[in-house]
Amino acid sequence: MSVAAVLPRPETALALIPERVKRVRAAFDAGRTRSAEWRREQLRALKRLLAEGGETLVQALHADLGRPAFEAWTADVGAVKAEADLALKQLDRWMRPEKVRLAMNVRPGRGRIVREPLGVVLVISPWNYPVQLLLSPLVGALAAGNAAVLKPSELTPHTSAALASLVPQYLDPEAVTLVEGGVDETTALLAERFDHIFYTGNGHVARVVMQAAAQHLTPVTLELGGKSPCIVDADIDLERVARRIAWGKFLNAGQTCVAPDYVLVHESQEEPLLEALAAAVKTFYGDDPRQSQSYGRIVNERHHARLARLLEDEHIVIGGVQDSHDRYLAPTIVRDVSPDSPLMRDEIFGPILPVLPVSDLGQAIAFVNAREKPLALYVFTRDPAHEERVVEETSSGGVCVNATIWHLASAELPFGGVGPSGMGDYHGRASFETFSHRKSVLTKSWRPDLKLMYPPYGALKTRLVKKFLT
Ligand code: NAD
Repeated sequence: MSVAAVLPRPETALALIPERVKRVRAAFDAGRTRSAEWRREQLRALKRLLAEGGETLVQALHADLGRPAFEAWTADVGAVKAEADLALKQLDRWMRPEKVRLAMNVRPGRGRIVREPLGVVLVISPWNYPVQLLLSPLVGALAAGNAAVLKPSELTPHTSAALASLVPQYLDPEAVTLVEGGVDETTALLAERFDHIFYTGNGHVARVVMQAAAQHLTPVTLELGGKSPCIVDADIDLERVARRIAWGKFLNAGQTCVAPDYVLVHESQEEPLLEALAAAVKTFYGDDPRQSQSYGRIVNERHHARLARLLEDEHIVIGGVQDSHDRYLAPTIVRDVSPDSPLMRDEIFGPILPVLPVSDLGQAIAFVNAREKPLALYVFTRDPAHEERVVEETSSGGVCVNATIWHLASAELPFGGVGPSGMGDYHGRASFETFSHRKSVLTKSWRPDLKLMYPPYGALKTRLVKKFLT
């Protein structure tokens, strides 16, 4: 049975949506969210939500995605807590006006950049990490002093319901509101005016979001996906490489925006890499991954059927076992894949890993560059010159060398896509900046007050100015 069928569809009466947005806007306009105290209080409240409601969220994630508790605590609950901890620690520094050294022509005076909150922000999140991807952006929005409207994904209904119950218990209900529902509710929300929209999900809906935002000239951050490649160089410890690729790929049953989508391996290493990947999968999930407590499920039947179709006519070397009733698809590795096959067209977003041989690094780079810019790019190499070459000659949201996924775990590194994989970034200070306006402030001295600058200009003043400026 599909999980979505277990819960009744949430009822956020569409007619109430404008009222709820109006309410949080009133709170923002009244200045409720601006003080450092309010921001700190909300971040602490969010941490309490995670501490006291964490178990509820972990169970909901299991109900929706079969998510192992370890992954739920680390990748969802823990990831938000780390963001909130950092924001609390750094808030004073982030909020401090930035002094600017002025150019000669505007001196004497004082220049500074003040971060001001944007207003009311809308956060729309997807189903694959439904806690992290809703609440991590919220950390930035709160730290920057905004009011927020949260829209979790309807495809993970248990987690959506848990969040809908927890958020108003902990966060200021005047300034933070959560709207459950699907396309109708999101469409109703998008008709409202926001001061920023932060959308995580797929590129098709991103276009809908951007079009709606354009009506109000609302800026957007789009955190999207793509086919993130893994390049494996020759002459490398394949056992370790396989472990790191398999972990990043099969985490959350491959439903991770930065999951390695496919592997390009030096042809001399293809066979041993396939063997090492098979060994890693067996060590992680045993002989029958279906019985493993460490392996998740596909979010719903539609996505399960989509993934099953992708495997038709492919040469499966590991896995391939599936059961649509249980939404189970084994960790699967495929070889001899045509670059034009459906598997290589769109983001796979499931536990299927095509491995393709290449003759050298140049061919791997050309293969990546012939496709849309991915969200993440992974390169495994012992040669610093090769690492540098990949970083220099390819474009992607981010690069992680000799590991997968880890680059997004560092709050010091802004996380985001480029081109079709997204626009804008967040995490740590980058989140605070995303939800702030950088306001330039110049305070001029009263003296001197050069008459030269004022009309009437006349020939002499013009000559002087020309001499001075050229
Ligand atoms: P999804 O179907 O849950 O959609 C995301 C949100 O969009 C939901 O809240 C949903 O209600 C809303 N939505 C769906 N259709 C809509 C419509 N027609 N109009 C308005 N709103 C609509 O999630 P998804 O898009 O399937 O998520 C998976 C994608 O997200 C993958 O491509 C993945 O790579 C990407 N992703 C990116 C990141 C990142 O940080 N860059 C993280 C996770 C997932």
